[in-house]
Amino acid sequence: MPHCSDCGAYVTRDFIRVFGADGTVSGCPDCTTYRDLNNGGAVDGAGESRAEQLRGKKRPL
Ligand SMILES: [Zn+2]
Repeated sequence: MPHCSDCGAYVTRDFIRVFGADGTVSGCPDCTTYRDLNNGGAVDGAGESRAEQLRGKKRPL
């Protein structure tokens, strides 16, 4: 089950896909904010909404 490597809270696979790397994330809504996650470098689409980022990342390769 995916979880936050910082606080251990459960996170969704979509969340990992957008904000994480190698199946883990260093922050989650329980221990940080989406703004901080976006500023953390995992996502550089600062002008996109979170929903747009989720849709973009969910496309199968
Ligand atoms: Zn966390």
